[in-house]
Amino acid sequence: MTDNKPERTRIVVIGGGVGGTSIAYHLAQRGVSDVVLVERSELTSGSTFHSAGLVGQLRGSVTLTRMMMYSAELYRTLALDAETHPGWVECGGLRLASTPERMEELERQVGWAETFGLQLEYVSAERAQALFPLMSPDGVLGATFLPTDGYLDPSQLAYALAKGARRGGIDVREHTRVVSIQPLPVGGTGKFLVVTDKGDLVADQVVNAAGMYAAEVGRMVGVRVPVIPMSHQYVVTAPFRDVSSDDRLPTLRDPDLLVYYREDGAGLVMGGYERHSEAFALGSSGFDAIPQDFNGRLLPEVWQRLEEIFENSVRRVPAMADAEVRKVINGPEAFTPDNEFCLGEANVPGFFVAAGFCAHGIAGAGGVGMVMANWLLDSDPGMDLWEMDIRRFGAQYRSASYTRQRVTENYETYYDVKYPGHERKAGRPLKTAAAYPWHKEHGASFGEKSGWERVNYYLSNEQRSEEPLRPRGWAGKHWSTAIAVEHRATRQAAGLFDESSFSKIEVSGSGAPALIEWLCANRVVRGNGCITYTQMLNERGGIEADVTVTQIDDEVFLVVTGTAFGTHDLSWISNHTPVDGSVTVRDVTDAFVVFGLWGPRSRDVLQPLTPQSLSNDDLPFMRMRETSVAAAPVRLLRVTFVGELGWEVHAPVEYGLGLWQAIWESGAEHGLTACGYKAIDSLRAEKGYRYWASDITPDQTPDDAGLAFCVKTEKSFLGRESLLRLRGQRDSDSPELVCLSITDTRQVVLGNEPVRVAGAVVGRVTTGAQGFSVGTSIAFAYVPSRVADPGTRAEVLVFGQWVDAVISSAPLWDPDNRRIRDGVVSRPTISGRKGA
Ligand SMILES: Cc1cc2nc3c(=O)[nH]c(=O)nc-3n(C[C@H](O)[C@H](O)[C@H](O)COP(=O)(O)OP(=O)(O)OC[C@H]3O[C@@H](n4cnc5c(N)ncnc54)[C@H](O)[C@@H]3O)c2cc1C
Repeated sequence: MTDNKPERTRIVVIGGGVGGTSIAYHLAQRGVSDVVLVERSELTSGSTFHSAGLVGQLRGSVTLTRMMMYSAELYRTLALDAETHPGWVECGGLRLASTPERMEELERQVGWAETFGLQLEYVSAERAQALFPLMSPDGVLGATFLPTDGYLDPSQLAYALAKGARRGGIDVREHTRVVSIQPLPVGGTGKFLVVTDKGDLVADQVVNAAGMYAAEVGRMVGVRVPVIPMSHQYVVTAPFRDVSSDDRLPTLRDPDLLVYYREDGAGLVMGGYERHSEAFALGSSGFDAIPQDFNGRLLPEVWQRLEEIFENSVRRVPAMADAEVRKVINGPEAFTPDNEFCLGEANVPGFFVAAGFCAHGIAGAGGVGMVMANWLLDSDPGMDLWEMDIRRFGAQYRSASYTRQRVTENYETYYDVKYPGHERKAGRPLKTAAAYPWHKEHGASFGEKSGWERVNYYLSNEQRSEEPLRPRGWAGKHWSTAIAVEHRATRQAAGLFDESSFSKIEVSGSGAPALIEWLCANRVVRGNGCITYTQMLNERGGIEADVTVTQIDDEVFLVVTGTAFGTHDLSWISNHTPVDGSVTVRDVTDAFVVFGLWGPRSRDVLQPLTPQSLSNDDLPFMRMRETSVAAAPVRLLRVTFVGELGWEVHAPVEYGLGLWQAIWESGAEHGLTACGYKAIDSLRAEKGYRYWASDITPDQTPDDAGLAFCVKTEKSFLGRESLLRLRGQRDSDSPELVCLSITDTRQVVLGNEPVRVAGAVVGRVTTGAQGFSVGTSIAFAYVPSRVADPGTRAEVLVFGQWVDAVISSAPLWDPDNRRIRDGVVSRPTISGRKGA
C-alpha cells in the first residue's frame, strides 16, 4: 500500500475483539476470503481482554439461546485443535434461587430448556453445594444445573478465531485504524471508501464490530448505534482453595444476590451487576467520547460500587471473607438500551453492525459470527433475530440522554425478576399521542412501546366482580379487572382504542405499484380504497413483515404495521426500492392519529358523525374511504384487529384530541367504553390474529403460520420460489401454528412454555392470553402437523405443572367472520371443542 490507490476488497470488518474475529472466522468458514479485518490497536485490546470469560447458554429468548448453544459447540470444537484452543473448560453452570419468585423463574427456565434440547436440571440446595463446595446453602430454595456451560480465556478465543480466519485466507491487520468511511456513488467499483491510517480500502460491505467504540464508528457514516460504554467490575482472588486436577467448580450465579463466580486456578473470579452503575467516557454532549488511545487499558477500581456485591458474595461463599483480593478488574463494555445485542444492516445499505454485547459477548461471539456471516453473504441471518436487530431502535435513540437513561435502568436491574407486563420507567413519558391528556384524565394506566405512551387499560374501568378471573402466578401480577371489563364492552357494545402509535409508511411514486406488489405475498394493487392484509417474505419464504396495505391512490400506498416494527419495515421496503428515484418511502407515523372503534354498536356511534354511509354496501369490509368525522378530515378503514365490526379512523394529528372527544360523546348512549392494549391482547387471541415477532417471525412461512390464504402464488413476489419449494416438501413433521384452549381461564401462559402431546414434547408456546368471551385460556404454539388436528389433547407446562389443553381450530371467535363482515351479532361460536 505504498501508492495512494485504494485497495479493493469485498468486506471490511472493523474491530479485532471476539465479535470481529468471529465474523471473519465464519466468513472464512463459508469460503469467503476477500475480507480485511482492521484493528486499530492489538487484537482483543478493547473489552475482550478483560472479560471474565463465563459462557452461559440459557437465555430468555429462543434465538439467543440457540446462538449461545452454537457458541458452546464451536468453543468445544476449537478446543480439539491445540493451535485454536480457547482455554475452554466445560465445567457446567449453576444458577441459584434464594426467593420464591426466582424459584418460579427457574421452573420456567427448566421448561424452556426442554424445548431447546438443553439438559437443564433442577437440583436441591444440597446438591448445588456438593457441586460447588465453597457455597453456603443458606436461604437457597433450589437451583438449576446445566452441565454443558463453561468458561474460557477470552483473549485466547479471539486469537483462535483470528487464526481460523487467517487460515481461510482473510487478511487480519492490527494497528490499522479506520478514520472515516465515505459511501461511494452508485455504479462505481464499490459502496464504501474506508479510510484508515495505513491506506484506503474500497469495499462492498462494512461491518462495524467495534464494541464500545461502535457508536463512534457508526457516526462516520451517519448511523446511530445506541450503545453506551458502562464500567463493569469483578474481583480476582489470590489462590485459597485446595485443588486437584479433577476438582472443577461449575460457574455459579446467584441473581438474587447480584453475583456470579467462576474458578480461577485455586482462586475465584467474582463479579456482578451493581445497583449503582457508571458510564465511561461520556463527553459534554452526552455521547461517548472514548480516548483515542484507550486500548489495552482498564479503569481505576471503584470499590464503593462493588461493596454491596462483595458483601453479598461473602454471604454465598463465606471463604470470600478471608480470601485476598489480588486484583479488581474494572473494564468498560458496550451496553444497549434493552440489554440485547445490536446486530444487522443499518439504514445505510451495506453497512452492518455487530456490537453492544452487554457483558455476554464471549458467550455470544460464536453465534454472532455465524449469523452475521449469513447476513453479509445471504442478505439474511438465517434465523429470526428481531429482538437483536438494529432496526428495533427508533429515532428516539438518536438522543444521548434518552439512550443513557434506558441503558442505566437496564444495567441496574439486570438480574431482577421481570414479571410479564413489567414496564420500564426511565425516560418516560417520551412520545405522547394527541389524546394523551384525555387518557390521563380518565385514569389510564400507561405502558410504553418504542417510546410511545400507550393505554394498557383504564383504572376507571376496574370492577371487583371480575377479580375471580385474575390469572394465577406471574401473569396475575400486573393484571387488572379492567382488562376483562374492556374486553366484554367491545364484544357486547363498542370499544374505543387509541392506536396512534401504529407505524405508518407511505410508499408512493410511479414505481410504487410494482414495488409493493413484488414485496407482498398477497395481491395488493387492487384499486383505490382497497385494503389488503398481507405478509412480506424474505428470500427463505419466511415472514419478514405482517402489515395491511391500503391503496390510497393509483401510485400511493399506506402500509400500517406494529408500533415497534416501523424502522424494521421501513428499511425492508427502502432497501428493496429501485435506485432510479421512481419510489419514495416515507415514515408518516407522527402525522396521523389512529383510533380503533370496534364492537356491535360501533356503527351507531360513528354514523351520526360522518356523511359517509357506513352500510355494508357503501363501505364494505377491507375498504377505505376519505371523508370526515365530526370536524376532522379522516380516512375510514373498515378493518379490525379484535374480531368485531368497526373502523380505524385515521386523521391528521392536529385534529386528534377533538376527534377522540367527539367519538366518545357520540358513544355515550351506546355503551362505548374507552379501552387499552391489554384488552386487544385477549380479543385478538380469540380471533386468532397473529403477532409478528412472536407468533410469526422470519423463520416461519405463511404455510407454517396458517396464513396461506394471504398468498397469491399466481403472481410473482419476493420469497415465492422458496415458499413453493418448502410447500412441496411439507410433511407430517412440518410445523403448524395451532391454537390451544386451556380449560382453566386463570392458567395464562407467557410464551416459550413446552407443549406435549401423548407424553412427548412437540413444541413451544408463542403467545397466550385469557379468552374472556370464549371462556378458556388461549395459547398459540407451533407443533408438527401430524399432531395438529383440532380436538387433539395436549398439555402445556405452566410453572412446573402440566395443564390440560386441547387443540382447537382457530379462530375460536366468529370463525365465519359474520360479525366483522356483516356486523351480524350472533351467539359466539366456539369451534374445535370436540375433544374438550
Ligand atoms: C469486566 C467485564 C467482564 C465481562 N465478563 C464476561 C463474561 O463473563 N462472559 C461474557 O460472555 N462476556 C463478558 N464480558 C463482555 C465481553 O467481554 C464483551 O462483550 C466482548 O469482549 C465484546 O467484544 P467486541 O468484539 O464487541 O468488542 P471489543 O473487544 O471491544 O473489540 C472492538 C475492537 O474494535 C476496535 N476498534 C474500535 N474502533 C476502531 C477503528 N476506528 N478502527 C479499527 N478498529 C477499531 C477496538 O480497538 C477493539 O479492539 C465482560 C465484559 C467486561 C467489561
